[in-house]
Amino acid sequence: MDLSHRRRAPCARHQEQYHTVTRPLHEYRRIQRELRRQFEPFTKRYCPQCTTPCCRTPARITPADILLATTHGWDPGPAFEGRDLVAETAATCATWLETDEIPPSGQPCEFLGPQGCTFPPDLRPFGCTVYICPIMLREMDRASLARIRRLVQELTRAHSMLLKLISPA
Ligand code: SF4
Ligand code: SF4
Repeated sequence: MDLSHRRRAPCARHQEQYHTVTRPLHEYRRIQRELRRQFEPFTKRYCPQCTTPCCRTPARITPADILLATTHGWDPGPAFEGRDLVAETAATCATWLETDEIPPSGQPCEFLGPQGCTFPPDLRPFGCTVYICPIMLREMDRASLARIRRLVQELTRAHSMLLKLISPA
C-alpha cells in the first residue's frame, strides 16, 4: 500500500493534523531508532541469558505493523510465502478483544531470527517496541528508565497519529 499520496492530498479530516505534524512516518521511525539506542546497553547485557524471554507468541503485532513494514520494503522471507500476514494478524488481534489476559504460549515468535527480530530495526511492531520488561524495571538506573519512558510516550503519540492518518475517514 503506497501511503505517499496521502501526504500530497490529505482529506479534510486530516488537514489540521498535517499542519501540526510533518513527515509522520519519518518521526515514528526516528523515535523507534532512538528508543532502540537507549535499550541497547540493557538488551546486550541481559537478553542473551534471560530465562523468561519476551519474544514469544502471541506477539504484540497488529495488521498496521505488518502493513507499515511491508510497504516500506520488509520481506519476511520465504517461510511466509503465500501467507496473508495482515489477515492472520487481524484474526489474532480479534481474539484478544474477548480476553482480559493473553497467556504466553511459550513458543518463540515466528519473526524471531538467529540475530533477533527480523522486522526492520526502526519499524518493529509498536507493542514490542514500547514493552518495558520486569527485568528492565528492576535493573535499569532511574535516569535511563526515565528517558525510555519519555520516548515511549513520544512513540505512542506518533503511532496514534500514524493510525489516524492511514485509517479510512
Ligand atoms: S524479558 Fe527483558 S531481559 Fe528478557 S529477553 Fe525480553 S527484554 Fe530481554
Ligand atoms: S515481532 Fe520481533 S520484537 Fe516482536 S515478539 Fe516477534 S521477534 Fe520479538
